[in-house]
Amino acid sequence: MEVAETIESVRRIVKNARNEGRKIGLVPTMGALHIGHISLIEAAVKDCDFVIVSIFVNPTQFGPGEDFEKYPRPLDADLKICKKAGVDVVFAPSPEQMYPAENITWVNVEKLTEPLCGKSRPGHFRGVTTVCTKLFNIVTPDTAYFGQKDAQQAIVIKRMVVDLNMPLEIVICPTVREPNGLAVSSRNQYLTARQKKDAANIYKSLQTCRGMIDAGTTEAHQIIAEMRKILQQIPSGQIEYVSIVDAETLESVDKIAGKILAAVAVKVGPARLIDNILVDTGK
Ligand code: AMP
Repeated sequence: MEVAETIESVRRIVKNARNEGRKIGLVPTMGALHIGHISLIEAAVKDCDFVIVSIFVNPTQFGPGEDFEKYPRPLDADLKICKKAGVDVVFAPSPEQMYPAENITWVNVEKLTEPLCGKSRPGHFRGVTTVCTKLFNIVTPDTAYFGQKDAQQAIVIKRMVVDLNMPLEIVICPTVREPNGLAVSSRNQYLTARQKKDAANIYKSLQTCRGMIDAGTTEAHQIIAEMRKILQQIPSGQIEYVSIVDAETLESVDKIAGKILAAVAVKVGPARLIDNILVDTGK
């Protein structure tokens, strides 16, 4: 496995792989790799002949007062995980490598970035879409892999690729969870054992949502009220949003119909946690 720290070196490596006719897969990450990331890598290794994992804690997607500085950066452990998973190249650039000068060119997806996380994290998705565009331009993958865990991000990236005719396929992989249902996240490291246990209520609230829909409830506000009750049982929890939206447009729905996304953001102690489920009512 090679480790490239510069754009020039990763481009050279990719060029060689491409000349050999290999299908190139990219898994963009911020590191602190866990079984969620590994599931994306495994999907890439299965589909592609040459797999690149990028590890970059992207400053432009963090707002003031967020956890950019304290975000975990265990590079050696990450490299071991990548090697074991069959990754060909890890691209781990410095912030100076990715942003050598003040960044004044941005990629901005409208509408889809306004609700949910976009409300409380202004500029976050602009940072995500800009860094993904840069990574796509640097690595030129045939396919890039993202997690359903960050549902809004996945929808925004998919739309960006369509709207800007980017020549790659986006694959979304299912959310990997702890045995108690908590979605695995690099930010779970910020939680105490007790908070981790309590945070299982996030998935419990989403399962309640699915159960109510299956039982025929169609009023979104009734479901949201039940979900809130479950989330309020997290002692150190602060609910940011509990939303039921159209799975394509991300617009709020009053009546459950078609494909919906139930999405939750809760601050548990120091960690802002997000989770979601997709429900296809078939109607
Ligand atoms: P991050 O390092 O948090 O930026 O995540 C990198 C990629 O891994 C994103 O596409 C995430 O959606 C995905 N990811 C993070 N956690 C999980 C998980 N529990 N299951 C599946 N994918 C995940």
